[in-house]
Amino acid sequence: MAKNPNPYFERVCLIGIGLIGSSLARVMRRDGLAGHIVACARSTATLDAVTRLGLADSVTSDPAEAVAGADLVIICTPVGVYEAIGRTIGPALSPGCIVSDVGSVKQAMIDSVGPHLPDNVHLVPGHPIAGTEHSGPESGFETLFEGRWALLTPPAGTDQAAVDKIAQLWRSAGSRIDIMDPVHHDQVLAITSHIPHLIAYTIVGTATDLEDHLKAEVIKYSASGFRDFTRIAASDPVMWRDVFLNNRDAVLEMLGRFSEDLTQLQRFIRVGNGDAMEKLFTRTREIRRGVVEAQQHVPPAPLDDDGK
Ligand code: NAP
Repeated sequence: MAKNPNPYFERVCLIGIGLIGSSLARVMRRDGLAGHIVACARSTATLDAVTRLGLADSVTSDPAEAVAGADLVIICTPVGVYEAIGRTIGPALSPGCIVSDVGSVKQAMIDSVGPHLPDNVHLVPGHPIAGTEHSGPESGFETLFEGRWALLTPPAGTDQAAVDKIAQLWRSAGSRIDIMDPVHHDQVLAITSHIPHLIAYTIVGTATDLEDHLKAEVIKYSASGFRDFTRIAASDPVMWRDVFLNNRDAVLEMLGRFSEDLTQLQRFIRVGNGDAMEKLFTRTREIRRGVVEAQQHVPPAPLDDDGK
């Protein structure tokens, strides 16, 4: 691809370049949005893969070196390392730089990174509502964010021009934008994403603990519903550990409500209250129709190419 003489950002630094970071890099490469992309990860294997796939102009394992001179830094690591990253990069950031992220929890991002940023740097947290159960730079693809929401949660008083630039970046990726209060974001995502993952991890764990003869049949006949749970439960263990540790209050609140509803359903079954069950299942069917109408029902699929 020819270099864009007027890139949207001069120098973009991606700290963490797995599924989400590499998908963003692919979008920026495709559209010439960045004059230079520097990728930062811990392992040589990841940095080698980034170089091989042509996802960045330079690579380093040193976050402070990576952010030097950048006008945009996007943190794309698990949320649990945000505090350490913020502490390391804070003193190395250039004046006017925008610091954003893609993490699944937003108030914790502001609390852990915000205090380390100099006053002349803009904090614009973000979260693409898009993903798969795969990890690493090879698993990314440039259409991942198309038709999906990108939620931005800038703290009060954030420079509007900085928010607009991040919104424009996500629009280039094909996303729709919503601006949200971070605590509200964490509550909404607790029920739409975090609890469903918790349920998947639990049900697959329960199946794993079954006696051997039952377990074999669970796998054999998994197409009857279990298969979808196994896909979700294959999601990255570290990423999801960090989501639950960093969205504790909202997850526990939603889990409490879920447990009460589950207990009620258990009672319907025990006392044979078919009417109540039918009423509930009719209501949930309507929710599915709403999801389909909002065009959020199709899972993202990677392009059938070499990953570039
Ligand atoms: P991923 O594929 O596992 O990639 C994580 C990246 O972070 C890797 O490049 C890893 O480098 C790097 N990393 C980890 N710890 C680091 C550290 N201490 N310093 C520097 N780099 C570090 O993860 P992902 O799925 O892209 O998720 C990234 C973020 O996106 C998470 O915060 C997650 O909550 C959010 N998110 C994920 C999804 C999803 O479906 N996966 C959807 C929306 C948002 P190495 O390879 O060298 O370890």
